[in-house]
Amino acid sequence: MRQIIIIGSGPAGYTAAIYAARANLKPLLIASSVEAGGELMNTTDVENFPGFPEGIQGPELMTKMQEQAERFGTEVVYDDVTSLELTGPTKKVTLGDGSTHEALAVIFSTGSAYRKLGLSDEERLSGHGVSWCATCDGFFFKNKTIAVVGGGDSAMEEATFLTRFAEKVHVIHRKDTLRASKIMQDRAFANDKIEFVWNAEVAGITGADAVDGLRLRDTVTGDESTLDIGGLFVAIGNDPRTHLVHGQLDLTPEGTIAVAGRSSKTSQAGVFAAGDVVDPTYRQAVTAAASGTVAALDAEHYLTTLPKDLLAKASESELAAAN
Ligand SMILES: Cc1cc2nc3c(=O)[nH]c(=O)nc-3n(C[C@H](O)[C@H](O)[C@H](O)COP(=O)(O)OP(=O)(O)OC[C@H]3O[C@@H](n4cnc5c(N)ncnc54)[C@H](O)[C@@H]3O)c2cc1C
Repeated sequence: MRQIIIIGSGPAGYTAAIYAARANLKPLLIASSVEAGGELMNTTDVENFPGFPEGIQGPELMTKMQEQAERFGTEVVYDDVTSLELTGPTKKVTLGDGSTHEALAVIFSTGSAYRKLGLSDEERLSGHGVSWCATCDGFFFKNKTIAVVGGGDSAMEEATFLTRFAEKVHVIHRKDTLRASKIMQDRAFANDKIEFVWNAEVAGITGADAVDGLRLRDTVTGDESTLDIGGLFVAIGNDPRTHLVHGQLDLTPEGTIAVAGRSSKTSQAGVFAAGDVVDPTYRQAVTAAASGTVAALDAEHYLTTLPKDLLAKASESELAAAN
């Protein structure tokens, strides 16, 4: 049995691990089998993470976070969590290889997934003109003509924000009316850099090394057309990865894990949540890292409240595993 298991290897999970390991809690971090490192593995330049004035490549940043966590004694396992039992003082974490690990505290930091268009060139051009985050990448599209796909509040917000950089922003929407709130619609309609393409869906993204255009399909007539652009922002929604805890932890109306106030405490004692899985609003690497810190400190404090014999049992198992 461990004192603490951390699920997820994004900025939230690794930051929680750095703090937990430096508090001598010998964390076990389950990193996932194919998506270790989290969302920043899918991007190129990260220019807004403090401490890197020249910017840093997403995968390099995540490698550095992992090295920092391991330096203080975090054990990283490349597997997926397939099920969890979170009630009671001992939590059970089962992995894809069938093994079960026990811990007194769990930090859940599985992130969230931006919805994708499902086009073959979307992944290939991710970080090369296709983006899901205007705050992260808008700066790279100075004076370009770009497109935003979506018709909700987040699409209007992204489009309006992107007009600070882009020369023109086409908003592509499948229908002829928007889902967005009236105030967000009004703001977008009033912006003369935004042009709406109604009743249209993206049928293809073109460009050899970087996005240079779109193939659009009219959702009413089926006619196809092309649009020359230098960047595409997909803003059709975001799903927190919570399926493992359904029925065990309370969720918010937005689908994120509910936590108490500014803490990381979930509805289950000894279970803490951090990063994009609790955050319907900001979803940035630095905010995820900060909430990983909160979770590690909350877990550390929780452990001090447990009976000494339970803690001794966990420490003995950690010692045995290390030898
Ligand atoms: C293309 C792109 C570019 C971005 N660029 C920037 C940027 O420039 N600056 C910025 O601040 N933010 C950027 N972001 C946002 C940033 O990546 C996220 O806010 C941040 O990664 C969230 O961290 P997290 O740890 O909460 O989740 P994630 O990074 O999503 O990590 C979650 C982790 O949990 C793991 N996991 C999920 N399920 C399981 C399971 N069952 N078992 C084990 N592990 C599991 C995943 O594999 C992953 O390792 C970008 C996002 C994208 C998609």
